[in-house]
Amino acid sequence: MSKTNVNMICDIAELSSLFDKSKSLDDFLQSAVSVVAYHMKAAVCSIYIYDETARMLTLRATQGLSASAIGKVQLRLGQGLAGLALKELRSICVARASERPEFLPIEGVGEEKYKAFLAVPIRRQLTRVGVLVVQDVKENYFDTADEQALKAIAAQLASVVENADLLMALHRQEVVVAPEPLETAPRLIKGRPASGGVARGAARLVVSGRAGRFRSPDSLPDTLTLDDFNRAVKESERQLKALQSEADEKLSDVAQLIFNAHLLILADEEFTGEIRRQIEEGAAPVEALVGVVNRYIEIFSASPNPRLQEKEHDLKDLGHRLLENLMGGGRAPADYGGQIILADTLLPSDVLKLVTEKAEGFIMQGGVTAHIAIICRSLQKPMVMVDPQQFSLIQESHNLLIDGAQGTICVQPSSEVIAEYERLRKAMEKMEAAPPVKEETRTADGVRIRLFANINLLSDLEVADRFRAEGVGLYRSEFPFIIRDAFPLEEEQYQVYRRIVESMGGREVTFRTLDIGGDKLLACQDEVEEDNPFLGLRGIRFLLQNKEIFSEQLCAMLRAGVGGNTRIMFPLISSVDEFVEAREMVLECMKQLDGRREEYNRETKLGIMVELPSAVVLVEDLAHEVDFMSIGTNDLIQYMLAVDRTNETVSKLYLSHHPAILRAIERVAAVARSHRTDVSLCGDIARDPRMIPFLLGVGITKFSIAPRRMPDIQKAVEAISMQKAVYTARQMLEFSRISEVEEFLLDT
Ligand code: PEP
Ligand code: MG
Repeated sequence: MSKTNVNMICDIAELSSLFDKSKSLDDFLQSAVSVVAYHMKAAVCSIYIYDETARMLTLRATQGLSASAIGKVQLRLGQGLAGLALKELRSICVARASERPEFLPIEGVGEEKYKAFLAVPIRRQLTRVGVLVVQDVKENYFDTADEQALKAIAAQLASVVENADLLMALHRQEVVVAPEPLETAPRLIKGRPASGGVARGAARLVVSGRAGRFRSPDSLPDTLTLDDFNRAVKESERQLKALQSEADEKLSDVAQLIFNAHLLILADEEFTGEIRRQIEEGAAPVEALVGVVNRYIEIFSASPNPRLQEKEHDLKDLGHRLLENLMGGGRAPADYGGQIILADTLLPSDVLKLVTEKAEGFIMQGGVTAHIAIICRSLQKPMVMVDPQQFSLIQESHNLLIDGAQGTICVQPSSEVIAEYERLRKAMEKMEAAPPVKEETRTADGVRIRLFANINLLSDLEVADRFRAEGVGLYRSEFPFIIRDAFPLEEEQYQVYRRIVESMGGREVTFRTLDIGGDKLLACQDEVEEDNPFLGLRGIRFLLQNKEIFSEQLCAMLRAGVGGNTRIMFPLISSVDEFVEAREMVLECMKQLDGRREEYNRETKLGIMVELPSAVVLVEDLAHEVDFMSIGTNDLIQYMLAVDRTNETVSKLYLSHHPAILRAIERVAAVARSHRTDVSLCGDIARDPRMIPFLLGVGITKFSIAPRRMPDIQKAVEAISMQKAVYTARQMLEFSRISEVEEFLLDT
């Protein structure tokens, strides 16, 4: 029988026109593969559909392969011949697929026996939709006429799939693919570590505000009244106030009013009043509540102001709280205890809220800003970052174990794994209670090394003390600015800074001035949209353009330093000029304080973060001007290697051991030594014990790190002599390739 390509195209056209009546995309795709296989007389015809977010192709219909493979077989973009056809948006026709290195036969369905292979991408212009594949046992079975016919089919399929997407959006509830049954077999996912610690709990998806409407539960009690609604409002208010006061107690520097938006909306007569009015007019309380919450969500999401858009989160949260109080008859709504949050985007204030509500840990799909990870470390909540494909492997209610330090997630862990987790948790608790750190840190040959603490929240101070920090090497002052809705006044800032100086009792404290911009956004300012925020108004640039904010902060820092050993450090310095201008600001503030007859620390030292390539190049000139320098490798790596520190797709290129980074650190340390300028290192490179020999070897003897890392870093220092460290550093500086450094680190 000959192939009947013209008839096939007609049949598919007819099938496509019927599509919107049947509404099931999978049924349609299955009919399409049968029609194609029949007319082409091909043993196999399959359709893979592409998910742009997960960057994954999934087998959605097949004639000829085992039906059990549908929905299970997945290919990454570029993987296998089908993945390659889609990646390169071109047809691939091969006589003997098995001879092509890219061929990746699907295991267990006997695909190896099909020799001829033709794959055509399904696309809408440059948008990737999927791949149409035909296969046959006969070699060299498909020709260019088949390829042309298949391309015509693919074009029709593209429009059907697009219509299906639209239908899905319109009837989200009806067509959301049913979640697969909970897996019973344990699965290990290797993500990226963002914040250490271990946690166990059930997966709980917290979708970003824009991800959908607030929905009422499936079964509604019909006995609820206006009184029940009023009681739910009162109860919700009580709970929110209790949460707020708990946050105030533990996180006084940042948590001010974090539940404020909820309380404000709750107190808004237009909101609760509208619900009451609808109930009085006969609406069921739950329906009235859901309707009004959704109307507000629409208003907020349509707002051009991103801050207002974010209030969608708060509205949904509040909606859930009210609903649970309304339906639960006074039962306390569930907090996040025993749960691990799965989220794509979160604000720092969301993390604080969720932790106050007892969330055990976090799994984030990309989108982790520097501050989200930093705040989790301070709150001692593990966080693991995963890519979209890994994220899709975890379903709500799955049992999870996460190890933030390793970046691993165990889905549905076995009892042995749980026992191991318990052992690890107990060991960590023990170490927290009595951390194994000595008062002084020395190399194996007795050279004194100084370990300071990076402090993000005031709650870190107690930890720094317990872990015997010799002072504060970096206080990231931006957290009270980032999280609060209102700008902290000079006096409020003074109180926070003073707490740090007092708790250090004469030990050195380095305050870093506000480092916002990039991904570190200020809560109390309307965001200025920038095309390249990391290259925009960040760090010292923001302060020099907002001199009032700068001057209030400097005054607060100068005043807080009275009787202490304090220093002020400027972030993101790119030129000598910026430092000089900042120093002039400090001198003006001193004059201002003299005029106000306020006491302040006249001996305050002034220094810079060396975290931009331009600062490395100008380091000699800067060393002439400054009292001290601190190397910020987190940004130095980002800017030297042009790799966004928060972008999951390029995370493999963010390498602290890149030869250019090693040489930059060596240069700064050497210049500092020759100018006798105090130099320290406060970036995350020093969290890694494997890098300690190099850092010591180039002459860094002062580190500022997260206090909980101190025992490990002290051990790494004690394990090596300075002589050996110098030799190691020399060897590492010789390498021109990343791979050479990696091999060297593996061998040592
Ligand atoms: C750095 O850039 O290395 C640093 C310590 O600062 P931050 O992580 O706050 O940008
Ligand atoms: Mg930095």
